[in-house]
Amino acid sequence: MSLIVQKYGGTSVGNPERIRNCARRILETQRAGHKVVAVVSAMSGVTDSLIKLAREVSPGGEPAEREMDVLLATGEQTTIALTAMAIQDLGGKAVSLTGAQAGISTDRVHTKARIRNITPDAVHRMLDEGNIVMLAGFQGATDSGEITTLGRGGSDLTAIAMAGAIKADLCQIFTDVDGVYTCDPRVVKAAAKIPEISYDEMLEMASSGSKVMQSRSVEFAKKFGVRFEVRSSLNNNPGTLVKEETPGMESVVVRGVSLERNQAKVTIDDVPDRPGISAVIFGAIAQANVVVDMIVQNVAFDGETDISFTIAAADLPKAETALRAILPALGEKVTLRTESGIAKLSVVGIGMRSHSGVAATMFRALADANANILMISTSEIKTAVIVREEEIEKAARAVHTAFGLDAAA
Ligand code: ADP
Ligand code: ASP
Ligand code: MG
Repeated sequence: MSLIVQKYGGTSVGNPERIRNCARRILETQRAGHKVVAVVSAMSGVTDSLIKLAREVSPGGEPAEREMDVLLATGEQTTIALTAMAIQDLGGKAVSLTGAQAGISTDRVHTKARIRNITPDAVHRMLDEGNIVMLAGFQGATDSGEITTLGRGGSDLTAIAMAGAIKADLCQIFTDVDGVYTCDPRVVKAAAKIPEISYDEMLEMASSGSKVMQSRSVEFAKKFGVRFEVRSSLNNNPGTLVKEETPGMESVVVRGVSLERNQAKVTIDDVPDRPGISAVIFGAIAQANVVVDMIVQNVAFDGETDISFTIAAADLPKAETALRAILPALGEKVTLRTESGIAKLSVVGIGMRSHSGVAATMFRALADANANILMISTSEIKTAVIVREEEIEKAARAVHTAFGLDAAA
């Protein structure tokens, strides 16, 4: 008998028929002789509509994060109960548990809490009594019993963390595509399913926009060595295995291409070229809780320089307010320019560590596709560019083809 953790995402439980489909699959797994913990997300669209409702009742400002967590946790709570009912209706034995009931304890950072530890006693007890445990994704509780949520896409993290805590033999992430592809298959039709991928590559892809997995969940899986499989809830096709790096993996230079839309660029012109200026600028941005992605500073000319950086477009108003408060003190000529409607395209692969020419191939493909590069950044296993948002799809297709990633027709 194996211990299996499965996770079903929002689309997979998007309507009553889909919930019954998942219930059937979960029950089949148990009937094949396994103990099963099944994590579910809120039904698709539910989390977004709860966020919308919260904003509608608080037109005067951002709703309190503590209350957001109480609200958002209800999405997953609905699905665990419904799936448990569907399993019971099919003749199975199931019990639903919220994150708190399952012993998932987090820090106090509402809306993006981190899991501190898991005490899975109740989970083990329910499993030993022959139940399927239906576990609410995306949530936990602080030591003082406050409900918390784990950031968007956080049900992936619930599944991986629980699999690690109960030492599951298998962790399966069921979603609405057949696995992790070389690029989002909804954008690049020629994308191919990747049979195996290293944690590092999956992490870079996830954090540069491939939202098939929540990046924090991949980080957690890497840290605790939880291997997992991404596959479809709608068929039985083999999926993608995410695991530690193996020697053969480096022979592929680029494993995948990621896109991230809704980015914005902030440029500060004519800042004095002296120590401490960047610290002031990025200190103000950090104070405003805005996460900065790429940063470029020009070579100074005549004692002045320009600094550009990118952030999520949604954070632009916060960043502008923070900067307008500090810029006048930096110098009279300092000006601020912002640009939204831009997007990031990244190529990722551990083979980049030992192969040259990745940037050249990427830039040539972008030039041939007539996509203008606005910014460039590189890391050990990633090369990324910013382009205009309307050019991102053609850019992704061109780069995908240039690295030989297109599936055989
Ligand atoms: P779930 O609700 O199951 O968590 P998500 O919507 O979070 O599902 O993630 C699945 C989606 O991720 C797919 O429908 C696909 O459009 C998108 N996606 C983005 N990049 C990739 C990729 N490289 N491989 C597979 N899917 C991807
Ligand atoms: N329901 C949450 C979200 O939409 C968590 C998840 O689906 O993983 O972000
Ligand atoms: Mg998801």
